Amino acid sequence: MVTLSWKHHTLIQALISRGPLKEKEFHSIFTGVTGRNPGTVKKIFDKYLLEINKELSYVHFELKVCRDQYDGQVCYGVVNNVSDDQSKLGTKYSVPQIAFFKGIIEAIAQDEAAQGCISGFDALNIRLENQISSEASSSQQQVPPAFRNFSMSQKEKTLDELVRDKWLCRTREGNIGLGIRSLLDLRSWLRNNDVPSCEVCNEAGVKADLCPTDGCNVRIHKYCLKKLLSQRDDKRCSGCGKPWPLSKITKSEAVDEAMNEEESETQAAAPKSKRKRQLRSHGDSTENGSSQASLASTSGANARRVTRSGHSR
Ligand SMILES: [Zn+2]
Ligand SMILES: [Zn+2]
Repeated sequence: MVTLSWKHHTLIQALISRGPLKEKEFHSIFTGVTGRNPGTVKKIFDKYLLEINKELSYVHFELKVCRDQYDGQVCYGVVNNVSDDQSKLGTKYSVPQIAFFKGIIEAIAQDEAAQGCISGFDALNIRLENQISSEASSSQQQVPPAFRNFSMSQKEKTLDELVRDKWLCRTREGNIGLGIRSLLDLRSWLRNNDVPSCEVCNEAGVKADLCPTDGCNVRIHKYCLKKLLSQRDDKRCSGCGKPWPLSKITKSEAVDEAMNEEESETQAAAPKSKRKRQLRSHGDSTENGSSQASLASTSGANARRVTRSGHSR
């Protein structure tokens, strides 16, 4: 058994008390704690995460990585693997508030256009009555008064709280989308609710581009498509074999994007003296590629494990 150092504890504490963190923030905390830049010492960084996860697993928590589907940024967070709503949402939310939240994520997940959001108006009009569990409704149980009396202003207040806690987010257009905490924590739920996966990364395609062919359900995240196009010129849909519509993304845009991402990763909290060595290692594209792949495969493995344990219950 590994004994965690104060450094491990500081990283866990930061993720728990400040909620899921963007990669940049988490990396700079890592640098502050260890004096190392995770961009250059990927192996050490991964070892920390592995050691932390070993210990967290005893209490059914897990440090997870995923992408914010709305801006494509990588995020880290500690999630509770015991999947009942009360323990996930803590004691903070009441039963009708949780029902309201579930109604919203269901509406977002069911969106066939994969916009990943619903309007604020639609959110406020979610009916809590629909959230009474199937066993209860089959036994003709009455709608609990707490559900019936849940007012519009209570809904508005709950929306604000859920956004603040990163269970939901407000998109640039002012709509309501899934927060990063939901994206980290509800992976197996999204799978079990038949949200089609992105064909590139295999994560649920909540906010994604759709194949335009009628009857073809293939989805790809915009950031996954950009990454793909930075490596090759075209993309055929694996579902229907037709060329994927690229009108919105040009090849040069995709390459620019990929390079910007690498650059910002490289420069994150790097002391000047180390810059040269770093650039060299980043110039080696295979190394960079494999570290990306290992990150992706880690999160993929997590997701699969979660799904399996979800089924076995
Ligand atoms: Zn994807
Ligand atoms: Zn297709």
